[in-house]
Amino acid sequence: MQSPRGTSSFDAVVVGSGPNGLTAAAKLARAGRRVLVIEAADTIGGGTRSAELFESGVRHDVCSAVHPLGRVSPAFAELDLTAHGLTWATPPVCLTHVFDRHRARSVCHDRDATARELGADARAWRRLVEVDDADLGALLDELLRPLRLPQHRRLMTRFGLRALQPVDRFTRAFGDEMTRTLFAGVAAHAMIPLSAAASSGPGLLLLAPASVTGWPIAVGGSQSIADALASCLIAAGGEIVTGRPITRFDELPSAPQYYFDTSVHSLVDILGDRLAPQARRRYRRWRYGPGVCKIDFLLAEPIPWPMSAPTRTATVHVAQDYRQIADAESAVARGEHPRRPWLLAGEPTRLDPSRAGNTGRHVAWAYCHVPNGSTADMGAAMVDELERCAPGFRDVIVASRVTTAQQLGEYDANFVGGDIGSGATSLRQVLARPRPPVNPLSPNPYATGVPGVYLCSSATAPGGGVHGMSGYWAATFGLAAAESSRRRR
Ligand SMILES: Cc1cc2nc3c(=O)[nH]c(=O)nc-3n(C[C@H](O)[C@H](O)[C@H](O)COP(=O)(O)OP(=O)(O)OC[C@H]3O[C@@H](n4cnc5c(N)ncnc54)[C@H](O)[C@@H]3O)c2cc1C
Repeated sequence: MQSPRGTSSFDAVVVGSGPNGLTAAAKLARAGRRVLVIEAADTIGGGTRSAELFESGVRHDVCSAVHPLGRVSPAFAELDLTAHGLTWATPPVCLTHVFDRHRARSVCHDRDATARELGADARAWRRLVEVDDADLGALLDELLRPLRLPQHRRLMTRFGLRALQPVDRFTRAFGDEMTRTLFAGVAAHAMIPLSAAASSGPGLLLLAPASVTGWPIAVGGSQSIADALASCLIAAGGEIVTGRPITRFDELPSAPQYYFDTSVHSLVDILGDRLAPQARRRYRRWRYGPGVCKIDFLLAEPIPWPMSAPTRTATVHVAQDYRQIADAESAVARGEHPRRPWLLAGEPTRLDPSRAGNTGRHVAWAYCHVPNGSTADMGAAMVDELERCAPGFRDVIVASRVTTAQQLGEYDANFVGGDIGSGATSLRQVLARPRPPVNPLSPNPYATGVPGVYLCSSATAPGGGVHGMSGYWAATFGLAAAESSRRRR
């Protein structure tokens, strides 16, 4: 990475090079601002890094792997990431829920194929879960932004009435337990109990693009997303330095604006007394959610699934039944480890062989939810679940590596205690993310109250996932503020 040209020559300094930091930086640079990004780790990308974890020539996604919201992100579209080298690979099957070695249910990119999968539940799924192609843009325009009075009232009322329901109630619309479990697995990405109010919301949001743009992966690994954002930034004159963790505000070069792609509590520590006591108190109330324990695999052969659906997707959920997911999420919410974890898993080399080149190897990953900060190694339990559904799985493992929730937080400071959302997805924290706005008449959730200083990580609206929209909106507010102060002068 390039080194900065010197101090005080920047219009904006961005701390952190995750997808939100890089999006904010690229948007600012394209608006003509001189931008410097400072990253703690030796490489850019935060939760979108890929790395050769076991063998040279075989790339693994260290964190994020599948990007339904990245594919439809207005920020990524505006920055034209495909012109900067990003290519999406969209599998015909968005996700497959595997119950055991005989039974699976899938959500497909093609609506008719999903309907064939769901049989008698197809009509209810179509009515309650799927979004028409023509409505997707408007829906995302409402959801991937800070809270406001909806402009598409009919659409948002329909969505809101369903999203506010607990998964336990919402899924009563489906007659087949397998359909209920299929939906529950997607909703449970948010790591909240299935009985919680609004627990259906994350499932509905993630499934909205399924039949329109699918659930793609980035060709070459998720790092390609960060690399495309960095290319966009550098093409517009921006600069990046790596290997420089920021712990105090006075370590930063002087600039009129600062954007923090950090956790809420890191921001508070870095700003110190610059933050007004009331803002500090409100930020301190921020709560983290459960963590994840992840296992990465290097395989000699693909996972020996006994059915074809999981071989045509990048996302596999593994749970025997609805109860397994419900029990695991309830246990984790109580601060306990699940007696039997349910898994999110993937095998990207099936769809993107470029990740293993000519090595003949295959890549797979799985993770499960655990209490925040857990040091438990759930690897054996996860391998047991995969072996139960794909007999012979153990025999194809060449190497594996477990990352506990605590280690995930050490790997990327934003994933505090292994919380991949950098903050719990409670109703309160979704509505006021990361805290009630300083000025309720101008609801800018990115402003910290310190002039020119913004928080832009996934701890801000619209929340977790690789879509860059937190960075995009923080930069949009920052540009507007800079413009209005220029006019006042
Ligand atoms: C195991 C796992 C699986 C996931 N799977 C998916 C998925 O499949 N799809 C999806 O959309 N999302 C997924 N996510 C979530 C996704 O990775 C995050 O939502 C996303 O990366 C958040 O982006 P961000 O820019 O806000 O923060 P991050 O990506 O966390 O980036 C923050 C960056 O800032 C740096 N930083 C922090 N503090 C400082 C400091 N003080 N000084 C300097 N640098 C600092 C960090 O080193 C990091 O590089 C997953 C996350 C994990 C951990």
